[in-house]
Amino acid sequence: MDYSTKISTQVASVPRSGIRDFFELVQGREDVISLGVGEPDFTTPWHIREAAIYSLEKGQTSYTSNLGLVKLRKLISGYVSDFFKVDYSADTDVLVSVGVSEAIDLALRALINPGDEVIFHEPCYVSYSPSIVMAHGVAVPVATTKQDGFVLKAGALEKVITPKSRVLMLNFPTNPTGAIAPREDLEEIAALCIKHDLIVLTDEIYSELIYDEEPHTSIASLPGMKERCILLHGFSKAFAMTGFRLGYACGPAPLVDAMMKIHQYSMLCAPMTSQVAAIEALQNGAKAVAEMKESYHQRRDYMVRRLQEMGIDCHLPGGAFYVFPDIRKFGMTSKDFAMRLLEATNVAAVPGDAFGDSGEGFLRCCYATSMEQIVEAMNRMEKFVISL
Ligand code: PLP
Repeated sequence: MDYSTKISTQVASVPRSGIRDFFELVQGREDVISLGVGEPDFTTPWHIREAAIYSLEKGQTSYTSNLGLVKLRKLISGYVSDFFKVDYSADTDVLVSVGVSEAIDLALRALINPGDEVIFHEPCYVSYSPSIVMAHGVAVPVATTKQDGFVLKAGALEKVITPKSRVLMLNFPTNPTGAIAPREDLEEIAALCIKHDLIVLTDEIYSELIYDEEPHTSIASLPGMKERCILLHGFSKAFAMTGFRLGYACGPAPLVDAMMKIHQYSMLCAPMTSQVAAIEALQNGAKAVAEMKESYHQRRDYMVRRLQEMGIDCHLPGGAFYVFPDIRKFGMTSKDFAMRLLEATNVAAVPGDAFGDSGEGFLRCCYATSMEQIVEAMNRMEKFVISL
């Protein structure tokens, strides 16, 4: 059978993730140091795992309310109010999802009609464009530049807004650049969103991981923005809980309700065990988050310093756990550079073009790996750069 005729046009048109392709090459090689996977090297703190184990021991193995456990939603509402300075009702404005990944999918499917345009800044997380396309939307990337610290500028945003623009997706701190949007930029972006009546999907999954004193500002907290923002957050990064697959969306009740409709038919609810673990994370996880953050901070500073000492131009990323060095001076595509680095040194980093065309000429190096590994990776990379 010719299966290509059986697959939906939408799905067929979406390319495979560039990260996955690259890591298939890495698999099977020995002694590889991976700066590739965007996931904490820490195991989930023990008290959180213990809460999950204990919930299983107690036989808490059922479905939960579609929106998520009431206790968890109340804690999320409190956490978001303290951290993001936005108040959401635990009863109507909070949806617990299977990671931020599911929340992105739900929001896009709930908000857009076929042909609607969804704007996002690039380089960006690999799932944005495919998720938009699979929700029958039109992906409209806006390139950001190193000169602007990879921050979306209102001027660039305004240029791509059309009558079909419906949603703006933001992600600060950004995967893969670590960029943080200063409040002034967010204010200008917010004004445009109000002017053009855009809904904002703001993915703030790295918001605890900000290193240079600057308090995190969510666009949802700016005047007039709560009513047009869906704030997405989760437990994967700051709490080192990727495998628990737990995230949440907070937003105006009618939008959360629309997302809930899809969620209840496609997912029913997020896993009970993970929800119990998340309750423990929010109640008692702050110390562990602070310790992990301190460790990432040291690793970031070390990695950026070593790259700069090698003569590689590398901005200081304000958040997340990625550095995004500029390798254009070596006269290779980012894929070629990453391949040659892997071949010569067994260090794996992700070619920047995996995050969109504007990532070409850069490399994403994740520092959520042990300091020992980072030191060795930088030593190997230094030798490689000298050899070029
Ligand atoms: N959003 C961004 C920007 C990410 O980098 C990631 C994972 O790397 C996700 C969402 C997915 O997160 P989750 O594990 O909560 O699905």
